[in-house]
Amino acid sequence: MTVSLRDKRSSELYARALTYLPGGVNSPVRAMRAIGRDPLFVDRGAGGELFDVDGNGYVDWVCSWGPLICGHAHPQVVAAVTDAAARGTSFGAPTAGEVDLAEEVSRRVPGVQMLRMTSSGTEASMSAIRLARAATGRTKLLKFAGAYHGHVDGLLAEGGSGLATQGIPASPGVPAEVAASTIVVPWNDADALAAATEQHEFAALLAEPYPANMGLVPPAEGFLELLRKRADETGALLIFDEVISGFRVARGGGQELSGVTPDLTVMGKVIGGGLPAAAYGGPRTLMERIAPAGDVYQAGTLSGNPLAVAAGRATLALLQGERPYLELGLTTRALADGLARAARSAGYEDVQIVSTTGLLTVFFSATPVHDYAAAQACDLAAHASWCRGLLARGVYAPASQFEAWFPSLAHTPEQIERTVAAAAAAFAELAR
Ligand SMILES: *Cc1c(COP(=O)(O)O)cnc(C)c1O
Repeated sequence: MTVSLRDKRSSELYARALTYLPGGVNSPVRAMRAIGRDPLFVDRGAGGELFDVDGNGYVDWVCSWGPLICGHAHPQVVAAVTDAAARGTSFGAPTAGEVDLAEEVSRRVPGVQMLRMTSSGTEASMSAIRLARAATGRTKLLKFAGAYHGHVDGLLAEGGSGLATQGIPASPGVPAEVAASTIVVPWNDADALAAATEQHEFAALLAEPYPANMGLVPPAEGFLELLRKRADETGALLIFDEVISGFRVARGGGQELSGVTPDLTVMGKVIGGGLPAAAYGGPRTLMERIAPAGDVYQAGTLSGNPLAVAAGRATLALLQGERPYLELGLTTRALADGLARAARSAGYEDVQIVSTTGLLTVFFSATPVHDYAAAQACDLAAHASWCRGLLARGVYAPASQFEAWFPSLAHTPEQIERTVAAAAAAFAELAR
């Protein structure tokens, strides 16, 4: 089957965009360069589907990279935002909704008694780090290779190939001395963690409890417990970046799922329901260090923005109790099983399909992926070609091996079937 998409208006827009926006986009992954094609220009979304400006429809497994756990344009979310907008888009003064949202989050997330909202996950992790440094009087940070905590200077650090290595800037413009205060350790590597925490005094150990920015690479049995233990033994704070896992892998995020409670939690994506909102939180004793309760300065003109708060509250209201998580778990499972079946039917064996409730990655690897090095060793060309094959058949999967699929409550069995059929055809193309 040859498939081709209409792309006239997308091409025209992309040409214009390249004139006015670096790379034609406002965030790099959207350009789809990793899979060697031009970006989609989106017209609208509805539930689990997306439509581009040329009228092509796609089953959307990206869902804005995580925020849209209820799908596109959920009527209750749209109504909440519309209602909030009619009453004023920003006040720079407190509103009732912020208190309601903070209370709801503290009821759900074990490690959060109190929180401060920001407008992006990057800002929230930057602020959590400032608080951890203030609370410990230390500077150094431990992060895991392949983890992403936003584009914070000190966290755009890449390690070398050793057990635990001093960070070197992963981007021009990051001062070497800033990157050097970050020590990078391979994920799921207990020996490297032990060595690093013996050698350095850390302000914080930072982890995505269910890392999804090298593709989904869940923690090995006991690894999060070990992180908690090493933080306690060495006087470092444990920070969980739950920007993706929060309110997604379980009602209370990765910390509820694992039973390991961090000192500070970074949240984003789902908490804003598709509008710009994020937060960091923890126990009252720590959070009351933040101004004006305490001496650690952090502020934001649009923090706790009423539209974003309305979208976040409406989204969390749709995620009450365990039922939505059972449903999301079943949808994820059905997708994972279907993709595995598709690979088998095409005789394409070298894939690892990893999933947990609300997250999934298809690694193009003959062996299981436990860390970033293994993710990097995947057949990226095969992945790219498969993704292009999916897009050509009306399925929009993340255009990078180092990202996760985001199943939502809006995805239907019919959309899963369509995805599996497209996947089988795209696998068959590869196997040829
Ligand atoms: C997306 C993401 C961030 C950054 O959030 P932004 O809102 O894009 O700044 C931080 N941490 C993790 C785990 C993320 O996936």
